[in-house]
Amino acid sequence: MKGDTHYDTIIIGAGLAGLAIALRLRQRGEKVIVIEKNSMVGGKMDAFEWKGFRFDKGPSLFTQPELIDELFELCGKNPREYINYNKVDESCRYFFKNERLDLHSNKELRKKSLSGKLSASEINALEDYLQDVSASNEFIGDFFLSNPKPRLKDIFKRDLIIRYPEFLKLKFRTTLDKYNKRRFVSEKLVNIFNRFGTYNGSNPFKMSGLYSMISHLEINDGTFFPTEGMRSIPESLYNLAVEQGVEFLFDASVKVNKSVNGFELNTSDKLNSNKLVCAIDHLTFYRDVLRDDSLFQKYIKQERSSSGVVFYWAMNEKFEELGLHNIFFSENYEKEFVEIFGNKKIPNDPTVYVHVSSITNAKDAPVGKSNWFVMVNTPANEHPSKENIDALRHKVISIIETRLKTEVFSKILNEEYWTSKDLEELTGSFGGALYGAASNRLNSALKRHDNYSKKINNLYFVGGSVHPGGGIPLVLRSAKIVEQLIYE
Ligand SMILES: Cc1cc2nc3c(=O)[nH]c(=O)nc-3n(C[C@H](O)[C@H](O)[C@H](O)COP(=O)(O)OP(=O)(O)OC[C@H]3O[C@@H](n4cnc5c(N)ncnc54)[C@H](O)[C@@H]3O)c2cc1C
Repeated sequence: MKGDTHYDTIIIGAGLAGLAIALRLRQRGEKVIVIEKNSMVGGKMDAFEWKGFRFDKGPSLFTQPELIDELFELCGKNPREYINYNKVDESCRYFFKNERLDLHSNKELRKKSLSGKLSASEINALEDYLQDVSASNEFIGDFFLSNPKPRLKDIFKRDLIIRYPEFLKLKFRTTLDKYNKRRFVSEKLVNIFNRFGTYNGSNPFKMSGLYSMISHLEINDGTFFPTEGMRSIPESLYNLAVEQGVEFLFDASVKVNKSVNGFELNTSDKLNSNKLVCAIDHLTFYRDVLRDDSLFQKYIKQERSSSGVVFYWAMNEKFEELGLHNIFFSENYEKEFVEIFGNKKIPNDPTVYVHVSSITNAKDAPVGKSNWFVMVNTPANEHPSKENIDALRHKVISIIETRLKTEVFSKILNEEYWTSKDLEELTGSFGGALYGAASNRLNSALKRHDNYSKKINNLYFVGGSVHPGGGIPLVLRSAKIVEQLIYE
């Protein structure tokens, strides 16, 4: 900090969204400061090392890297001087009871790996589906994900009216599961495409079929992985932000008061600004930072998205059958969501996600060993006990051992884990929810928190809990939308 206490904009939270909006506003010539309660940037994109093993603690799936590159380019920099990443051929390996299906983003490889496992007509149905989700993505990406949330009066705007025929083709009036069942005979394909509903922490048996387009990013566009791991994404943006003159205040949990001309922070030198951007979970912001109980009570009524338990295992071996991303499906996928969202408990037979970054980045584990990130979806707000974690570990190991037909437990050299409680404490995610409110109603997309406050002038919102949604690409888009709201 340089001593002058007035800023054009104060940003609360130095996660990916806070970094992105800080860079965008700085590029507009603003004097900007980011207030962060921890001593580091990145929020959920945390990482740690243990004896030569490197683990990313949060995101593992990287799509639309061009949205990261765009931030460097905006600042006139070559992104490749700050961060590098490679395209990954194989999207994911899906392990079912007696079979494994591998999905590739390359059409030829995909067809080759599925032939003999799925009928020719199912493979064609899959290709048709991927074409349709690409079209929905083009339409929705354009209209919904890159703009402020539409309001009732917007539906009469001419540029929207001419798109109604396209809009009516979208499957927003049925659930994701029903839509997928209409498109596929194979229960395995239904499960695979229902699984994308969890990418925004929701229930595929309740959420709109509109979310089928989530699969477009992963399968049509493909996935990527940074050569220095996921953590290098926020680190590279932080380096850029410091170079560009964005200021940071770390280890600071602040309260904000609305002043005559803007906002004032309760710091000793009374930092103040014309504009404020909330880049943390909006519920935590209303409760702890703004202390506005009426807004807090208004939004707390919305159902939270799911949370998760993640085990980080340093493994004494490489496992040839695993890819970078692997899913071990439960026997009864629907029951799993009844347990998470209905009974609010850890699923009895969970679907397990295993990510092994050392497959792509060999330096992430010592030679001959591997680093496992093992995640299970769990309810938000219900923090698991030590006994719950022990029982879950036992189940997860048994599921993986059965499907891989090999011993796993004895190969774990070291374990750390993350639960909803850790996530809430570290990042302020309310209840440890991964993506803010759940999208478990057909109209949920329209109910997400806006990118600006209707009650307080010059208060804006970015990040995973607000429009257009959670996940790396969408939080980066939220920053773009706020820049647009302020300047266009
Ligand atoms: C286990 C896990 C796996 C995930 N997997 C993927 C994936 O594979 N792909 C993907 O795209 N996305 C994934 N996500 C989601 C993705 O991580 C988030 O959507 C994204 O990182 C959110 O960024 P953000 O800036 O909105 O929030 P955060 O990362 O939560 O950042 C918020 C920041 O604000 C700070 N803060 C909180 N309260 C205060 C306060 N009162 N004062 C000051 N600072 C405060 C926090 O310390 C934090 O630094 C995953 C998330 C988790 C947890």
